[in-house]
Parts: sequence; structure tokens; C-alpha cells
Amino acid sequence: MTKTAVFPTGTILGYPRIGPRRELKSAVEAFWAGTITADELESTAAGLRADIRERLTGLGLGRADSSIPETFSFYDQVLDALCTVGALPERFASLLGADGTIDLAAYFTLARGDGENPPLEMTKWFDSNYHYLVPEIGPETRFSLASDRIVREFVEAKQGGYLTRPVIVGPVTFLLLAKPSDAAPEGFLPLDRLRDLLPVYSELLGRLAEAGAEWVQLDEPGLVSESIPVPRATVLAALRHSTDTLGHLSTRPAIFVAAPYGSLDDAFPVLADAPIEAVGLDLVRGQTPFDLSGLGTKTLVAGVIDGHNVWRGDLNAAFDTAQAIAAQVAHLAVSTSTSLLHLPHSIDDEPALGDGLLSWLAFADQKVAQVTTLVRGLADGKAAISPDLAAAAAALQSRQDAPGVRDSSVRARAAALTGTDFTRGSYEHRVEAQDAALGLPALPTTTIGSFPQTTDIRRARAQHLRGTLSAEDYRGLMRAEIARVIALQEQIGLDVLVHGEPERNDMVQYFAENLEGFATTANGWVQSYGSRCTRPSILWGDVSRSAPISVDWASYAQSLTAKPVKGMLTGPVTILAWSFVREDQPLGDTARQVALALRDEIADLEAAGIQIVQVDEPALRELLPLKRANQAAYLDWSVGAFRLATAGVSAATQIHTHLCYSEFGVVIDAIRNLDADVTSIEAARSRMAVVADLGTSGFDHGIGPGVYDIHSPRIPSVAEVVDLLERALTALPERQLWVNPDCGLKTRGYAETVESLTNVLAATRQVRARV
Ligand code: GLN
Ligand code: ZN
Repeated sequence: MTKTAVFPTGTILGYPRIGPRRELKSAVEAFWAGTITADELESTAAGLRADIRERLTGLGLGRADSSIPETFSFYDQVLDALCTVGALPERFASLLGADGTIDLAAYFTLARGDGENPPLEMTKWFDSNYHYLVPEIGPETRFSLASDRIVREFVEAKQGGYLTRPVIVGPVTFLLLAKPSDAAPEGFLPLDRLRDLLPVYSELLGRLAEAGAEWVQLDEPGLVSESIPVPRATVLAALRHSTDTLGHLSTRPAIFVAAPYGSLDDAFPVLADAPIEAVGLDLVRGQTPFDLSGLGTKTLVAGVIDGHNVWRGDLNAAFDTAQAIAAQVAHLAVSTSTSLLHLPHSIDDEPALGDGLLSWLAFADQKVAQVTTLVRGLADGKAAISPDLAAAAAALQSRQDAPGVRDSSVRARAAALTGTDFTRGSYEHRVEAQDAALGLPALPTTTIGSFPQTTDIRRARAQHLRGTLSAEDYRGLMRAEIARVIALQEQIGLDVLVHGEPERNDMVQYFAENLEGFATTANGWVQSYGSRCTRPSILWGDVSRSAPISVDWASYAQSLTAKPVKGMLTGPVTILAWSFVREDQPLGDTARQVALALRDEIADLEAAGIQIVQVDEPALRELLPLKRANQAAYLDWSVGAFRLATAGVSAATQIHTHLCYSEFGVVIDAIRNLDADVTSIEAARSRMAVVADLGTSGFDHGIGPGVYDIHSPRIPSVAEVVDLLERALTALPERQLWVNPDCGLKTRGYAETVESLTNVLAATRQVRARV
């Protein structure tokens, strides 16, 4: 490194990139549809980046001190890193252009597949609801600097008058998040390729330095997770190797290694010792390391402002933490704990939320302002920011005292719970009662709940929301849809029917809108993956149910058929996972309140004659803490909440649950402890591999491993489904097996759905005839 740059006194780790009105989504989707060109998409993106820089300087970040991170992405930051280092999977090798680069069309092909080749797999980014694309790395993977987009974006900023900070997923995390390619031998670790990958990072850092970058940010959240199955000693050795290699380059920017989403633990001394210039800590999720002295002259970038949730939080406490650390280190910078990627842009876009709630919230822009406030306080003394601290303290106090935040009847009910509220009778007895009540055939067939959400349905909902369609007319249209879906299922020959969920905009928001204690936003979009955005609800107060939610729809559906219709609810853990949840009490307490509300709903469904109720928990795995020490407590309250919601029913009422994924490993005991009568899971892509694990683990309740991969428009053939069912039957007794798709059908079209389900039924009949 040629000169020592000074780290800015305040920064953020990243900023939302979709645009306040999802401008990027619209542009990217228009490019996919062929209605705009790559150049037009590039210019929209450049405009968004310019807006972000301007917005951030307006909020107090410096124009020329590297405090603005460049965290734009067209789709995903892991995919960006993959393209930067050219790590194309073999099946996509031809995407590398003749000039050795990957263009925009090729970039999206990796994310979306090309019809023949499946896209990269997608999975959750740490314990957030953001999804990244999983690199596939093997001995055959070739690395080369195949995209200099990062350099170009830095230069673009410079030409616009900004000295910004390029950001890339660090080499260790990149490999930790990768999975072994199909060609990799047994026991191969992607991390084994670090030595071959580092030259590309070195080249990139050289290019950035030549372009004038003073700092580069390497995101290494992989260091905080204990869920990645690589021995810790191997991870730490890789980190040492990586920081030594990059640190000793003669031409490079100063290096800032950020480690959001948890504490670094034993990786901290390694970074403190490394030839780099700044280390970033998540001080919201993690603790301040006991001994900071090892940092020497390095800058400690203190993530004291919560980047992962929407609360304004305790600014005084954040200031005190920052000040205490400042006394112990040579250089301190104030930062957010994580990228602000997980937050909507600004509370100024939410006038309908009301002044009370608004005063308790801080979205991305308000978090940036909090950072700059603390910077001012550290520089000029606490008195300089006392009005800001006082305002924050007042907001916190008003929140504590506000009506609805604490509802004494909700609290009394939760406090009175006893063990029996969490347990149903013996499973054997339930099976008998349910067999008698339901009279289902062997290998009962069903679906996961939603049927295709047609444009007509979406239009009706939008019109109803806008007030141009009356509540009565809307209800009529939804009922007509339910009637259609019931008739269709009878025609296909399914055994357990669903109403199809046409009335739900989203499986969490729908319940949030119908429960006390939640608010929903108008523009609070956050990126979930690629161009997909969600608008998480805000769970701010004690939760209760003032009226039945789904009972009317379910009973209407049941009135149309002699077959059982499943009531369909979203479980407490998933409601929490996909909302912004209050942080002023343990999550487990909040989960119980949601569970009690759902318990009332289930009781009403049962009283209305619904014999089967499904409580979806696709997010059970997602909230699992990254640190092993915290996992048991989590599983305890999360499983407890599900049981509390479902344990009030009679033995004859069948409880189903649905989980969206198939990597059970760590949660398999938890799934058993849910004690659902029937659990449906994703299994088609893994060709039932998971069923074998369940079989050997002694799982003895009903299980519906998906036989139809609903993530793709492909129609499974009868023979294929027969094969999957036979595979399942080699691992599990027939009495346990249910037949269903992998997940809900809301994103599919009707034609393919009907054909696929028809094949599933034909296959089931064939297999039934044989067993
Ligand atoms: N019942 C929901 C549906 O069918 C479940 C979706 C999910 O688990 N993600 O759409
Ligand atoms: Zn699912």
C-alpha cells in the first residue's frame, strides 16, 4: 500500500439498491421482457446510483472521504462477486465472452437459468430474509477477473464528484457460501480453492487502487456464522491466509473487513493482527470484544446502529457504547451493524402510519442520520447532540407508554399458560380418531394451499384497496374464485381440498392486516431476492385477534364439497420472521401472543366444521440463530409457539404443517417436536433424499414429501411422480405417506397446474394399485 488513508468517522455498510419506488425492479423486468435494452437498463441503474450518492451526502456522509459504500447490484451481491472472479459453473461456461468478460444478459442467465440449464440455487443470507445465489465451486472452477463493474462504478462516482468506497463479498465468505460443484469429489471444500481465488482479488484491488480508490470494503459475514459446516480452524487459517495475501500487496486501497450479523469471536484476534487497516463489528447482535488493544493503529468500525430492523432504538445507549470504545482504540468510526439493504428507504414515505408509530421508527435514511448524529457527538461532545438524544429518548418513552404496546388482557392470558396448553393427546389415539373422522384413502393427495393468483384476482384486490370495488363485490369475486378452485380439485380427484387463498396478498401480511398490534406500510419495500421485493409488516404492539380471519372463507369452501377442506393459517414463527418485530421484549414472548391469536382462529375453524387445519412454518429454519449456543433456546420457544397455536384441538382434528425447504439436519428434532399430524416438505429437486433422513431419524407421523417442483413451469410426468413415490416408499411405510406438490401454487399458471396435478393423481393411483 502506498499511503495510509484515514477511515471516515462515520459510514454505513450498504444501502438499499432497488430504489424508493422499486425503479430497479421495473427496469430489470423490462429488460427481461425485452422492452428496454441493456444500455437503457444501465442508464437507469447509473441514475439510481447517482441518486443514492446525492441522498447520502444530503444525510451527512462525506462526498470525498470514502464514507459512501458502493453497494449497488442488479440482482445479488454474491452473484456480483461470482461474476467479478469469473467462477462460472461448468454448465454456464459459454457465458464467458470471447473477451473474457461476463455481460449483463449472461449475468441474469446465471440467476434465472436458460431453459435448458437450471439457474444457481438460491438460499437465505445469514439470518435475514434476503436470498443470495449459491456459487458452485469445484476443482475444475477457473478464476479470472471477468467483470470490472466494481471498478467502473467507482470511476463513475469519481466522475460525478464523489470519492466512494467499493464493496465486495470477501474471498473467505465467498467460498464459505459456495457449495461443491457436481464434479467435486467427496469431501471437497470450496474453501480449498482460496489460493487460486486470491490472485483475482489481488488484481481487483490493484485496479481499484489505480483508479484512485482509497478504501475497499470486504464483507466477511461468513466469519460470524456457526451454521457453515467447515471446521473453525480451517476458516481461521483461510482468513489469515487471505488477509496476509491481500494485505501485503504493493498496490491496493486500504482494506476494511466488515463482519455483520454477529460477533467475530475467535476471528477477531486474527483480524486485529492482520495487515489490514480497519475492522467492522456488529455491536448490535454481537458484543464488544473483551480486549481491543490488539488493534494497534487500525480503525474500529463500530456497528452500533441497528441496520437490520426498523426501530429508532436507544440512541443514547449507542452513543455511550461508541464513546466507551473510542477511549480504547486509536481510531473509531461509527457505523450501522449491517448493510441497510434490509430496510425500506424512508419513513417520510409513510404518512399513513401516524405520528406515534412514525416517531418510533427509523428506516434506512433515518439510520444514516443517526450515524452522522453520533459522529457529531463524538467530535464535538455529547452536548452538541443533546437535542437529538433527548428526542430519541422521548420517542422511546412514548413508545413504552403508548396504548396497544402493552395489552393487559393479552399479558394475563400468556402468563396463565401451563404445560397442558402445549400438548395434545397421544398420537396413536389421534390417528384412530382422525381415520374414523376423515376416511381418507391410502396415500392421500392434497396441495399446499394456494392456487394460481391470476391477474383478475390481483386486479380485484388492487381495486378493492383503491376503493373502486366495494367490499361486497370483492367478496363475491373471491367466493367465485373459491368455487372454481373447489370444483377444479374435485374434477382432478384430490382427496383433501383447499380454498386456494385468493383473498391473501401475502401469507404474512394478510394476517398482519387482520390482527391487533401490527401496522403495514405503503412503500416499505425491501429486496427479497433479485427483482422480488416484499413489504414486511411492522409488529409494534401486543398481538390479539379481534375477530375471526379465515373462518368465513374456509366454511364457504367446505360448504361446496363433501371432501374435507383444510383451513390454512400462517404459523407464529413465520409471521415473526417475515415482519419487522418489536425488539423491546424477547421474541419468544411475542411468538406466544401470535400463537394465542392463532389458537383462537383454529378453535373457530374447528367449531365451523373444518376437520383439518394447516399451519405453515416455512421460516422455522430461517430464524435459527447463527451461534450454536443460542439455538436450543430458539428451538424451544419456536416449537413451543407452534404447539401452543395447535394443541387446543380435539384428537379428531388433523393438524398439518408445511416447511419450504429440505435441509433439515439441525432442525429435524424440532420438526418432530412440532407434533403435527402431517408435515409437508420440499423434496422433488433432491429426488426424495430427505425422506431417507426422516426414515432413519424415526419420524413416525404423516409426511408429504413434495413430488412436483413448483419453482419451475415444468410439468412432471406420471412416470416421474411414480418413481418419486416409490423412492419415498422404500424409506417410509405407506401409512405415513401423503402426496402433494413441494409448495403453494400461487406463482404458477393454471394450465400447467392442472396438467401437473392430473399427473400426480394418475401416478398416485398407479402406486396405490401396487401397494
Ligand atoms: N399455504 C402457503 C401457500 O400454499 C404456503 C406457502 C409457503 O410455505 N411459502 O402458498
Ligand atoms: Zn413452501
